[in-house]
Amino acid sequence: MLWSFGDHEMLSMTHALIAGAGIGGLSAALSLARRGLTVSVFEQAGGLGEVGAGIQLSPNASRVLHHLGLEKALEPVGFLPQAVEMRDWRSGRLLVSSPIDDAFREKFVYPYYHVHRADLLRVLERAVRAQPGIELLTSSRVERIEPGDAGVHVEAGGARHRGDLLVGADGIHSTVRESLFGAEAPTFTGNVAWRGLVPTSAVPQDLVRPAASVWWGPRKHFVHYYVRGGELINCVCVVEKDGWEVESWSERGDLGELRADFAGWHETVRLLIDNLDPNACFKWALFDRPPMPVWGLGPVTLLGDACHPTLPFMAQGAAMAIEDGAVLARCLAECDVVAQGLRRYEGLRRARTARVQAGSRRNARIFHLSGLPALFRNLAVGRASGRVMDWLYGYDALDPDPS
Ligand SMILES: Cc1cc2nc3c(=O)[nH]c(=O)nc-3n(C[C@H](O)[C@H](O)[C@H](O)COP(=O)(O)OP(=O)(O)OC[C@H]3O[C@@H](n4cnc5c(N)ncnc54)[C@H](O)[C@@H]3O)c2cc1C
Repeated sequence: MLWSFGDHEMLSMTHALIAGAGIGGLSAALSLARRGLTVSVFEQAGGLGEVGAGIQLSPNASRVLHHLGLEKALEPVGFLPQAVEMRDWRSGRLLVSSPIDDAFREKFVYPYYHVHRADLLRVLERAVRAQPGIELLTSSRVERIEPGDAGVHVEAGGARHRGDLLVGADGIHSTVRESLFGAEAPTFTGNVAWRGLVPTSAVPQDLVRPAASVWWGPRKHFVHYYVRGGELINCVCVVEKDGWEVESWSERGDLGELRADFAGWHETVRLLIDNLDPNACFKWALFDRPPMPVWGLGPVTLLGDACHPTLPFMAQGAAMAIEDGAVLARCLAECDVVAQGLRRYEGLRRARTARVQAGSRRNARIFHLSGLPALFRNLAVGRASGRVMDWLYGYDALDPDPS
């Protein structure tokens, strides 16, 4: 395809196929459609429901979502926290607080949201379904991928589809990744995450601050924050554990085991665990992969967890997937040839996503220190936090700096 992608009419003749309708696939579809491409999104599941859990969306992600016209839809479901706070697991002592105040808002412009995943997916799905030029096909697992000189064919949902490009946004066990580079199992990190929700009305008023609170303890940590406009408190409880490696959004956990894991922790943490909805408490083994040197070949590329699965300890996995879609769309608009646009996108994204993957892994070690190293950490913490936010939250995926 040798025409200029800067020409809107030509872009509208370009058809993108996306495998996976998670946060990454849906936001990429919207970003591509905004640049004039037509898009088919294939999702293996019959619907896009998500089990109860929250997600933090920092300004680098909300910048893209607002640009996609989702500000109004996010407003009623998002919760706007006032700070990110780190606390000691036993005493509850505040170790460091990064305020999300007027100075923060002035600097990063776009909001820091806490949202329920199901709410975010609903917002994205509605926007996708309302967007002419995007078709969303559920119960359509992408199985067979045939890249060629004149685009790419896939088999999905029993039919054969043709596109000018294919984006594998199909998660950590990506079929598209495997078809390009062969099978390679992700690595179990030794961490298990429990996720669940507490109705805000179930706990004493003012028990939980309007902040993302992270409690650091030996070989464990506990995170909580409000979602659904403050109606619910999302809890993520991470424990180092061997011998349990099930990775699923819907594996129910046993609250008795979770209580035993956090026995001896501060009463706020224990009270939240006691009030978790037992029917909506899920357990998730955390896997990752090292950064990939190559993300795509010919008319095929990868996006989100398919190419850079990221531990949740910087709360940035979905944010990176959302950024990917915006950069991809821009690169396609700026290059004359599809494959050139895809390689340019990959080149712009590799270093940043690898840095976030490494930072998230490092945080797992820092959060879980014990004894003397934990004491030194508590003394030193706070000095670097402002600088961290600058490179992370100040990034503009709509106009990424190639340097
Ligand atoms: C406990 C926990 C907390 C987290 N908290 C945060 C946070 O606060 N902030 C943040 O930014 N990130 C967070 N993350 C990370 C974030 O959830 C992921 O990075 C993000 O969901 C990745 O999105 P994705 O669209 O790339 O992949 P996925 O969400 O995995 O979506 C992939 C989609 O592809 C579909 N699919 C798979 N194979 C096929 C196929 N062959 N054909 C068609 N469809 C297919 C799947 O059904 C799925 O719908 C957290 C992760 C965990 C585990």
